Amino acid sequence: MTSSNGARTEIVEVARGVYARLHDGLTNAGIIVGDDSVLVIDSLRVPSFARELRADVRRITDKPVRYLVDTHGHWDHAFGNEEFTDAIIVGHVNCRRELEEYGEAWRDGVVARNNQWSDEIKTVRITPPDLTFDQRLELHFGGRRVDLVYLGRAHTSGDIFIHLPEDRLLFTGDVAQDGGVPYMLDGHMRDWVETDTRLLNLPFERFVSGHGPIGTKPALVEARDFMAALVSNAEGALRDGQDVPQATVTVRDALKGRFGDWRGFERLGDGVARLRGQMG
Ligand SMILES: [Zn+2]
Repeated sequence: MTSSNGARTEIVEVARGVYARLHDGLTNAGIIVGDDSVLVIDSLRVPSFARELRADVRRITDKPVRYLVDTHGHWDHAFGNEEFTDAIIVGHVNCRRELEEYGEAWRDGVVARNNQWSDEIKTVRITPPDLTFDQRLELHFGGRRVDLVYLGRAHTSGDIFIHLPEDRLLFTGDVAQDGGVPYMLDGHMRDWVETDTRLLNLPFERFVSGHGPIGTKPALVEARDFMAALVSNAEGALRDGQDVPQATVTVRDALKGRFGDWRGFERLGDGVARLRGQMG
């Protein structure tokens, strides 16, 4: 299927009644069909994207959407929220806070980039979650457990994971990808490694990321190892007195053998710069 922006979308049933909606090069979403209603994971970047997502839900089922879960507050995951005000919008307390504090700045950033979303994003009504939690929320939804789990700061201060323990499945938002470097400029770099490690302790076999393909557990181990290698090499270089550009070269040389073919590897310097700011 091709969406209105030209990029390909694909819907994959990853467990009975659980779908990954993969959007080539853009942001993925999730759809869980319960007995009498639907749970959607992430509302995507602008209202028109959210409407296309809802049209895809209707192609799967005529049940109403009861919950929208925001994996985190970033615009490309949560700026379609206004199309889900007939549902309960669920997110971490820090997801709500970040949308309130930084939502307008994220909007301004997209407008300034003057890209294909810059016009529509001006019209977005930033709509934070109305049901928030700080550690864990267990839903018993359509005969299955859907655990919403917070494991600490990582890609933002408010990332949650959607864990379906009986299906051994995870939705990871932007904390981890299969073979891709996440956006790091809002990251909490040292916490991120610890959060990844806690994530690996959950029982799961496969994960749906906010970007890129569906992964298996070994890919999530790789994602943790990437973050650990980035942080340890960058800290070492910065402590040795290298500036951010020098340290970026050092880190790139150290990591390119194992991770050089990852999507977004060229953005590695963002993580070094972010870490520098967090070392005080
Ligand atoms: Zn994000």
